[in-house]
Amino acid sequence: MNRRQFCRSAVAASVAAVFLPGCGKEAPVATQADTSIAAVSLDGADIELSKAAIRELGEATSGPVILSGHPQYDTARMIWNGMHDKRPALIARCMNAEDVSTAVSFARDNNLLVAVRGGGHSWPGKSVCEGGIMIDLSQMNTVTADAETRTARAQGGALLNALDTAALQKGMVTTAGVVSHTGVGGYTLGGGFGRLNRKYGLTIDNVTGAQIVTADGKIRRIGADEEPDLFWAIRGGGGNFGVVTEFEYQLHPFDRNVLSGSIVWPVEQARDVLEFYAEAAPRLSDEMYIGPVMASLPEIGDVIVMDVVYNGDPTVGEKELAPLRAIGTPKVDGVTLQDYMVMQTINDVAFGHGIRSYAKNGMVKEWSQGLVDTLVDAFNPRLFLANHVAGGQVSRVGETETAWPHRNAEIMLVFASGWMDPALDEEMIAETRALHEAVEPYMGGYYDNIDFDGNKAAGNYGPNYARLSTIKAAYDPGNLFRLNSNIKPAV
Ligand SMILES: Cc1cc2nc3c(=O)[nH]c(=O)nc-3n(C[C@H](O)[C@H](O)[C@H](O)COP(=O)(O)OP(=O)(O)OC[C@H]3O[C@@H](n4cnc5c(N)ncnc54)[C@H](O)[C@@H]3O)c2cc1C
Repeated sequence: MNRRQFCRSAVAASVAAVFLPGCGKEAPVATQADTSIAAVSLDGADIELSKAAIRELGEATSGPVILSGHPQYDTARMIWNGMHDKRPALIARCMNAEDVSTAVSFARDNNLLVAVRGGGHSWPGKSVCEGGIMIDLSQMNTVTADAETRTARAQGGALLNALDTAALQKGMVTTAGVVSHTGVGGYTLGGGFGRLNRKYGLTIDNVTGAQIVTADGKIRRIGADEEPDLFWAIRGGGGNFGVVTEFEYQLHPFDRNVLSGSIVWPVEQARDVLEFYAEAAPRLSDEMYIGPVMASLPEIGDVIVMDVVYNGDPTVGEKELAPLRAIGTPKVDGVTLQDYMVMQTINDVAFGHGIRSYAKNGMVKEWSQGLVDTLVDAFNPRLFLANHVAGGQVSRVGETETAWPHRNAEIMLVFASGWMDPALDEEMIAETRALHEAVEPYMGGYYDNIDFDGNKAAGNYGPNYARLSTIKAAYDPGNLFRLNSNIKPAV
């Protein structure tokens, strides 16, 4: 049996499984069992999807089409946040850009609700949908790096770990986030904060080109000189404009042996640490990342932690770090010369797949005593409060140069909670919201990628929204790609 025959038989078997009584937990109800399955339209209406059309999709793509009842259905529909238990009518597991194009055209022609899954880390669960099609990029996960051109190419479903790994193997790096199983897809399209962004900018500032499948099914190469409007829009505009099948990133020469690690103080010393930080933050060198975290850690207790990565000469870094190290009495000072990937993977287990999680955030233009006091007073050991450092190169890019507008913010504060028992959902969400509300007066705008409720697209894009909306109308007039912080096509 060749690959295509295998795919056909897999689709046929899974289609059959949907209709066999008892096969597949809570399979969608098939109202015309022999000819169609139940699905959900772009507008949320119940529709019927013909079995013949699904079979044709399976024949036209090199990856499998997975329906309820298929052995891989339940793992394929799961995303990182265990809060989301949605059941797509079908999952198109794509292997290449042509598969993506076929799946996009199928969704458009059948008026199907579309979710696009990159790494699956969407906090609000936008990469899976109830009753529609999930375009699954998880197998498109290759990253290659080229030392000569100083670029990396990452497929749309690759994870940050693969990006870091490929680049570091060539003695280079680009900005990547702090949990290595996050996907490059949603992460990059939304902006991309990481420990090197003061030196190299956000991840979008390092994107030099992309391949994207737009709503018309066309596979396009875009960059500064090719469809520049679309290239501008994807740098901050999220998944609104199509499915990115490949990103090209600029890389920077990098010695992976960096001064890095965590300094941990008892939470009682949080005020001293934050007051120091508030004063020092605007003067940090571009090479220095210090990001405070307040949390309760197993076996250590309630603490304030400073994660440190210094991307430069360690002896210079030691000097810049000395005043921070001198504050109070740390429980642990783990800052040492070590491989960059130690810190890049240090959060991977704590933020493991399947955890139930809620998060909010806000951009802060400058520290104030009021903010420090509020953070100290509002500390809740059941929640996680973290900080991404902006400034540096992030703020040297103009507000309208990319679609992401919050360039003059000094920091991004993150309020998150994680738990396993569904019975705790309501109270954990309420507590996280309360903490966020306490700090809200000090924040303006938010980072859409780390927000469970974030869909205030128009306001949050500031001066960029009108242009985004016009570009949306040109490339996705029917708003096929709407499971994101949605930009409405201009009328
Ligand atoms: C544990 C954890 C740690 C995080 N750490 C950081 C961090 O350090 N820095 C930071 O900036 N952010 C961070 N984030 C936020 C992260 O950037 C977003 O959750 C991001 O959306 C994840 O991308 P993904 O591809 O994994 O998500 P997905 O759930 O697959 O997708 C998220 C959104 O992007 C769309 N999308 C994904 N891939 C594509 C694609 N190839 N083409 C078109 N649309 C696509 C989806 O349709 C969806 O709307 C973190 C999130 C988590 C859960």
